[in-house]
Amino acid sequence: MEKRLRLAPSPTGLFHIGTARTALFNWLYAKKIGGKFLIRIEDTDSLRSKSKYTQNILEGLKWLGLSWDEEPVKQSDRISIHKTYIKKLLDCGAAYRCFTTEDEISQLRDEQKKNGLPPKHDNRHRNLSNKEIETFISQGKTSVIRFKIDEKIDITWVDQIRGEIKWKGKDLGGDLVLSRRSLGYEIGDPLYNLAVVVDDNFMNITHVVRGEDHISNTAKQILIYKALNFKLPTFSHTPLILNSEGKKLSKRDCVTSIDEFKEMGYLPEALTNYMAFLGWSPKSAEGEILSIDAISEIFDLSDINKAGAKFNWEKLNWINSQYIKNMETIKLSKIIQKYWDEMSWEPPSQEWAIKLVFLLRDSMTLLKDAIDQSEPFFLIPKILKEGKDFLENIESKASLKLILNYLKEQNTEKLDKDKAKEIISEISKTHKVKKGILMKSLRVAFFGCLSGPDLIQSWELFSESKSDMSRIERCLTTV
Ligand code: GLU
Repeated sequence: MEKRLRLAPSPTGLFHIGTARTALFNWLYAKKIGGKFLIRIEDTDSLRSKSKYTQNILEGLKWLGLSWDEEPVKQSDRISIHKTYIKKLLDCGAAYRCFTTEDEISQLRDEQKKNGLPPKHDNRHRNLSNKEIETFISQGKTSVIRFKIDEKIDITWVDQIRGEIKWKGKDLGGDLVLSRRSLGYEIGDPLYNLAVVVDDNFMNITHVVRGEDHISNTAKQILIYKALNFKLPTFSHTPLILNSEGKKLSKRDCVTSIDEFKEMGYLPEALTNYMAFLGWSPKSAEGEILSIDAISEIFDLSDINKAGAKFNWEKLNWINSQYIKNMETIKLSKIIQKYWDEMSWEPPSQEWAIKLVFLLRDSMTLLKDAIDQSEPFFLIPKILKEGKDFLENIESKASLKLILNYLKEQNTEKLDKDKAKEIISEISKTHKVKKGILMKSLRVAFFGCLSGPDLIQSWELFSESKSDMSRIERCLTTV
């Protein structure tokens, strides 16, 4: 039988890291077992669902490289089908109309709270006669449909991550509401637990992999599966992603949507690699830098941990820097070019751009670091205090003069690394100036301070962009 997994996001917000990690685990396992990865957009909450969020989720999945196999199913297209199943449950006596009003429900809750009891419906309308139903309806009362939950039953399943899970029917909050309120004999809009079962069955889902916050829903859904005579899938409940304080990662932790990670300059390959290890501990893996294709080969649901997974920025940053470092230079320079375009910075040639990227890549953690780090190559930087202090030293300015004169005399058109080294050695020897002073002075002229990337390689670039001499001259005339 074909193995089929799915992601069933509700488009009520931007694509969240937790949903992305669930998608990744589904995708990895589908690949591992030669199955299919499908999408169902659970957009039946018409007030909160927005098509822009659906768009955002699908674009985010694409960006992460998590392609899906069939046209996504839109849950809102299937409402009438959900209703036919609710009707079936009503007809066979597994569900019933409940006319309890909102006021009555809050009264019940208040009493339960007073007595230190958890909220639970008292199933007061489970056995209404047709006559009683008719009376309520003729009084204009609205009703929901409730699914009967046997208080005495134990619901047990073998979770692929957590092993055997047992849930008592009496702990499920009373009979389960399947639909929103409606008037007369209408069936109101179906709710999550009913729709998810009907749709997972329709899509022939064989493995449900979702967050641990759905464990109690699974207990309820198993009862609906059984009542509708549907084949049960296997269930796996993944651990939550926690913040540094051990609480569920939320919007308060600043960055949670995939767009934000993208904007901050994380590479999709790095993010998926990091997310895979967020709660998954493989028995055997060579290192932690692995593509999703390589991970899918060794991935197993049973290697997912039960405990929550702490989000670790340092590790994510390290993984990102490794991907930047190891990416093909041409590919990386195309990505970085976009950042330069945003700043309206134009490299003098493509070759120059590639050399600059090659020079900076090892010190980059995030893609957007390329902006700060390449700025002095496009714009003349301010001379900072440490640079000015250094130039106070007579030897420093004298060194710059020597270098400038050399360049003018030699009329060096295109200076490469070897030539640059040669110039430093020659001047140092001829004029008895320490190489260190020459290089530091030059660094101040180029970068305005005493730090920055490799000086010789940088010089080659400044020479190519014809700004090495002007930078030196500026120091001699203005500082
Ligand atoms: N729409 C639900 C959610 O986003 C789906 C849960 C499930 O996978 O069944 O949490």
